[in-house]
Amino acid sequence: MIDVVVVGAGPAGLACAIGASHAGARVTVIERDRLPRPRPCAGLINAAGAAELAALGVATADAHRLGGIRLVDGEHRIRRAFPDGGQVIDRSILDARLADAAVDAGVSIVDGVEVLRPIVERGLVRGVLTDRDTDAEIAADVVVAADGATSTFGRSLGTVRDPSWPSLLTIIGRWESAQSHRSTLDIRLDLRRMSGELLPGHAWVVPAGDGTVSVGVSVLSTARDVDSVNTTKVLEAVVDSARVDWELGGDSFSPLRGVRLPVGLSVMPAGGPSWLVVGDAAAAASPFAGLGIDRALISGRLAAEAIAGVIDTGSFAVLQNHAPSLQAASEPYFRVGRLFTGFAGTRAGHALVRAAARNGFLAEALCQFGTGSFRPGSISALRNVAERMSWFAPRA
Ligand SMILES: Cc1cc2nc3c(=O)[nH]c(=O)nc-3n(C[C@H](O)[C@H](O)[C@H](O)COP(=O)(O)OP(=O)(O)OC[C@H]3O[C@@H](n4cnc5c(N)ncnc54)[C@H](O)[C@@H]3O)c2cc1C
Repeated sequence: MIDVVVVGAGPAGLACAIGASHAGARVTVIERDRLPRPRPCAGLINAAGAAELAALGVATADAHRLGGIRLVDGEHRIRRAFPDGGQVIDRSILDARLADAAVDAGVSIVDGVEVLRPIVERGLVRGVLTDRDTDAEIAADVVVAADGATSTFGRSLGTVRDPSWPSLLTIIGRWESAQSHRSTLDIRLDLRRMSGELLPGHAWVVPAGDGTVSVGVSVLSTARDVDSVNTTKVLEAVVDSARVDWELGGDSFSPLRGVRLPVGLSVMPAGGPSWLVVGDAAAAASPFAGLGIDRALISGRLAAEAIAGVIDTGSFAVLQNHAPSLQAASEPYFRVGRLFTGFAGTRAGHALVRAAARNGFLAEALCQFGTGSFRPGSISALRNVAERMSWFAPRA
């Protein structure tokens, strides 16, 4: 029996915990917050995420179903089908269901406890030190960093985010809305600074079907002088422009939360001799639109497969397979995404992205690349060309 400690009870950590427990490991998940807890997330799940959740036995039958995406740029609007359908579920509910599935699988979850740093013996990570008054040290054969976008614990293991790769400056709030029952979400392509200058990135209005919508903004880090962007002001402008159409209530009823989301596997390495990194801690979210629930679940499953390999073979060297499998599960899609985010940050690239609100082909391409669900047809040809061109994009 091997002992696994997972740091963080988000989708990545819990998917890993469930898989590792099924494989025969003794798994403890340590979560800083008390569960259930809110997350800064719109709770939009694409087809890949829905498939991972179904495989974990996590029900989403009561989620709000989305059938369409409306791209908006000023007065221009175009609607396309949501590729393979989308679902919206409150993240505190989703994560609580994942936690229940983990407990059913035999995982022990300790919440309200922060992991401070790894315990290192003779150069090897052998467990974690927590902020508990008693039993603060927890020994483990394998430690999994699933501690989200900021990943302070991951950094203490030695992970580094390459700052030259794109990331997304996000901010989100939640409003009451008389249009929350809609089955089409809005993606706005006309973000502006307070000066009126256009900004690369997008905003979303995602209906939750429960009388609320989440409204958020995601600015590409490739924007000129990005650190001077006031994302709260950008969000306020988006809310003002959506207020009448979506019949929004006064203020956000949840505090606005801003996060820098690393994307495209820009955090490396994804593992060491006795540790693995999953989810946002590994920058597993898509560079196209920042969707990360599906990627968190996939990366957690892959980490569990690496742990199962240790149990099967008795060799910890198998953990080295995690980083290449993570890459194989994301490339060449992410490579195209890294190329896209660089291009979208230029004036010409941004103009082309905005043209998607006026052109059916570009709109379809943006929706398929953004959700990661591709259909046979002309977009596939574009995808092939993009994949060939992406050989010039930075490599994970
Ligand atoms: C504004 C915004 C909106 C988004 N909307 C969507 C969306 O609609 N759809 C989608 O697919 N993706 C979305 N994403 C991305 C998605 O939320 C993330 O990719 C996903 O949550 C990653 O899951 P995770 O398990 O890696 O990390 P998280 O869900 O962040 O979980 C990490 C956990 O680790 C805990 N933790 C951190 N440090 C410690 C520590 N030292 N000790 C113990 N516990 C610790 C945290 O409390 C947290 O519970 C959004 C992201 C943002 C920022």
